[in-house]
Amino acid sequence: MQTAEQDEHWMREALSLAALGAAVGEVPVGAIVVCDGQIVGRGYNSPIGRTDPCAHAEILALREAARTLDNYRLVDCDLYVTLEPCPMCAGALVHSRIRKLIFGAAEPKAGAIISRDCFLGRDNLNHQVEMVSGILADECSTMLSAFFRRRRERKKVERKARLQPLVVESPQ
Ligand SMILES: [Zn+2]
Repeated sequence: MQTAEQDEHWMREALSLAALGAAVGEVPVGAIVVCDGQIVGRGYNSPIGRTDPCAHAEILALREAARTLDNYRLVDCDLYVTLEPCPMCAGALVHSRIRKLIFGAAEPKAGAIISRDCFLGRDNLNHQVEMVSGILADECSTMLSAFFRRRRERKKVERKARLQPLVVESPQ
């Protein structure tokens, strides 16, 4: 398999995890860690369900990979994620010694890799992470925008229902 094909193949796996998140009302972001052609860690964004502000897809996938490989350093491992990582996850990628980050859609508001910061390019880091962006970017961002659109529509319906005056029949 060519690298681009391979990247798309793994990104589809990350997308299917993102869909699991969307199904339970979490912002749909999915991540996997791949080592030697095998998935060793999986995660989808779930801070609400886990009551954990750090439960981003990348963190959960890194933790599972470390448990699977029984190693806190994920050398020779690549992380695929549907959305550009935030500063917390960018830091975790360096701590975990991930070899390569491959992400789908850019995150213009909070992305720490190419959008708001170039975190991985800092010269004070003790580990360099390779980076590939834009793999299945359209699919990845469509999943997010569809989620937010549905959520806005639902909120609108709920608001409307609350504003609806109660019709009370006056007793004659
Ligand atoms: Zn994050």
